[in-house]
Amino acid sequence: MVKVCDPKGITYYKFVLKNFFSRLNIKNKYGDFFLLINKNLDTLIVGAGFAGMYSLYKQVSDGFKSEIYEQGDGVGGTWYWNRYPGARCDIESMDYSYSFSEELQQEWNWKQKYGTQPELLDYANYVCKKFDLKKNINFNTKITKAEFNNRTDKWLVKTNKNELIECKYLILATGNLSTPNTPNIKGINNFEGNVYHTGSWPKKMPNFEGRTVGIIGTGSSGVQSIPIIAETAKKLLIFQRTPNFSLPARHSELPVKKREDYKKDYKKYRNLAKNSSFGIAKYQPPTQSAFDVTDEERNKIYQKAWDEGGQAMLFSFTDLLTNQKANDTAAEFVRNKIRETVKDKALAEQLCPFDHPIGTKRLCLDSHYFETYNKENVSLINISQHPIDEINVNGLKVNEKEYLFDDIVFATGFDAMTGAVNAIEISNDKGITLKSTWNNGPKTYLGIMVSDFPNLFMITGPQSPGVKSQMILSIEQHVDFIHSLIKHKKSNNYNTITAKAKNQDEWVNHNNEVAHNTLYPLAHSWYNGDNIAGKTRNFMPYVGGVANYKNICDEIVKDNYKGFEFS
Ligand code: FAD
Ligand code: NAP
Repeated sequence: MVKVCDPKGITYYKFVLKNFFSRLNIKNKYGDFFLLINKNLDTLIVGAGFAGMYSLYKQVSDGFKSEIYEQGDGVGGTWYWNRYPGARCDIESMDYSYSFSEELQQEWNWKQKYGTQPELLDYANYVCKKFDLKKNINFNTKITKAEFNNRTDKWLVKTNKNELIECKYLILATGNLSTPNTPNIKGINNFEGNVYHTGSWPKKMPNFEGRTVGIIGTGSSGVQSIPIIAETAKKLLIFQRTPNFSLPARHSELPVKKREDYKKDYKKYRNLAKNSSFGIAKYQPPTQSAFDVTDEERNKIYQKAWDEGGQAMLFSFTDLLTNQKANDTAAEFVRNKIRETVKDKALAEQLCPFDHPIGTKRLCLDSHYFETYNKENVSLINISQHPIDEINVNGLKVNEKEYLFDDIVFATGFDAMTGAVNAIEISNDKGITLKSTWNNGPKTYLGIMVSDFPNLFMITGPQSPGVKSQMILSIEQHVDFIHSLIKHKKSNNYNTITAKAKNQDEWVNHNNEVAHNTLYPLAHSWYNGDNIAGKTRNFMPYVGGVANYKNICDEIVKDNYKGFEFS
């Protein structure tokens, strides 16, 4: 390891010379010689969630010298950070799991229908151990900067520990929902009680017993944690800006027989998932419009899906996400369920969403969320008309009224899709930063590469179906695709792979076209960047479906990697 500030050693003189050359602005010609590189890699992967772990497995299996850098002290990504009460996936775990290893999927036994956060974290650790990944992971280390050098055709990457790593390929497995958003509310630092964010929850579960808790946010994280916090807190004050649609998860233990039967047919289910729109085996494309049936028949279909639990309702008809009137039938069905569940009629109405078509924000799945509002110790504070004025020492103020609590929970989401990428200062050989090229919204080719940024890859990036799918399926498909690009480059002795600007533009236009043929853009959501003040409004995910997307990628490979330039 080279120490940058060793005044007596050769390191010091190299450092002085490097500065001398860079001051003379001849860095590109001679400066590299004096760079204090700590490590040389083929591939540096940022992030040790499911995307990073599978990338590392693929790279190492094929003999690439690869390492992960992860800011946390363990693997699991989402499931490492989101330890809040009630955290679990809302896609059944038999689906929400890796498929790349038959041995793994046969030997791992899910105990819960929807994996809980501890179970998912155990799974991530199990995968890490089984495939011996840990020895190539650098924990507690954040990547802060990356610069492409067109003389070496390598990335020079910097960590928060001032290490410099040179690598041929830089893979960003930094996550779409990994940069917690804490809103900039006046006085936020003045609160003297405990402060929690669902997206970076402490390892030791706080005890809310006998305490008054204030929670801000009623998205998926709020909807999952509210019923559990309400079980022990003396009082729970829920600050709701916008109500959300939520369907019952109907969570349960996973019966052993069901699990084993599923395993016997795993190949079939994984294929069904790959050929579906959202990457979930049981949700196959519907065949009829909401108006092909009578009102009575339609309600029966919704009721069946409601009783079954999960997101089945959204897959009832072909036009729920494209026709406002069709969508209204599903939305009203759910609003009526809220009205039936919440005893206080006025309160029920405040919990009914009217501002967006159902399914155009990520649909929440819950376990007794609306029932929680019937509890004596739970209060809803509707802040849709009056935002929070300020947070103070003992609580917060809305419309001049003071609310006091011991603990505050921010269930306020994430700077989604671009937050983690933009937090790294990434620049190309012309000194242009990725962040500045994304100023008016991200642009990518297939959500995988950005033109002018050679040998830089992202997994489930903007304009990919990632967040609109069972994400592990999309992660595997992206990693395989990236890996095939890298292998193609290597076997043909090319130095760089870049996305062509023309193909990138066409892909972005196609994305916008697909999105604007749906109701998605009508919602104010993190899909659009609406949840972050100052972020350019831009619909980011590809909603053409995972099967279409995979077919497009396969065609691109057949067409000699159309849209990619190898040089
Ligand atoms: P992540 O798991 O987010 O991992 C990214 C990692 O990169 C993190 O560990 C982070 O610390 C690290 N990192 C980021 N930047 C840096 C840096 N500069 N330096 C070093 N390390 C860095 N998806 C589904 O399909 N189904 C679900 O049911 C589902 N439930 C979810 C529930 C919650 C609470 C959340 C937040 C998300 C959920 N998701 C779900 C989406 C989930 O994020 C993905 O399914 C998946 O786990 C993403 O894996 P990933 O590896 O891409 O990213
Ligand atoms: P989210 O969906 O973005 O919800 C954030 C909540 O905080 C919203 O209710 C938002 O209100 C509110 N909020 C934000 N800033 C506020 C402010 N200044 N004042 C008042 N309220 C404010 O975030 P999330 O719940 O963490 O979920 C993010 C995504 O993670 C989900 O969509 C999903 O993809 C994933 N997730 C999945 C699960 C699961 O069940 N598997 C669980 C958790 C998360 P507005 O709506 O008015 O902006």
